[in-house]
Amino acid sequence: MCAVPARRGARLIDDIDRAQAREAEILSDALRDQSLRAGLVGMTAADSAEVCQARGCGEAISETRRAAVPGVQLCVACQARREKNRGMR
Ligand SMILES: [Zn+2]
Repeated sequence: MCAVPARRGARLIDDIDRAQAREAEILSDALRDQSLRAGLVGMTAADSAEVCQARGCGEAISETRRAAVPGVQLCVACQARREKNRGMR
C-alpha cells in the first residue's frame, strides 16, 4: 500500500509544473527583452551570425547563443559593451 495519498502527490507535481512554467516564462521574457533591445524581433536562429559582426572582433558566436538569441549578430562581450554604452547616454 502506498502511504502517500495520491491526491497529495499529484498536487506536488502540479506545483512543480507551475514553477517550471513560470521559470520558462521569465526566461523567454528575458530573451524577448534582449531581442527587443538588439532590434532582433522577428529574427530566427537561422539569421544569427556565426561570427561576431562588431568591427575588429570576429569572435565566434556559440551555437547556444545563436539559438537563444535568434538573429544575434554580436558576441557576448560586444553585446554587453554596446548595451553599456547605450545606458551611458
Ligand atoms: Zn564581438
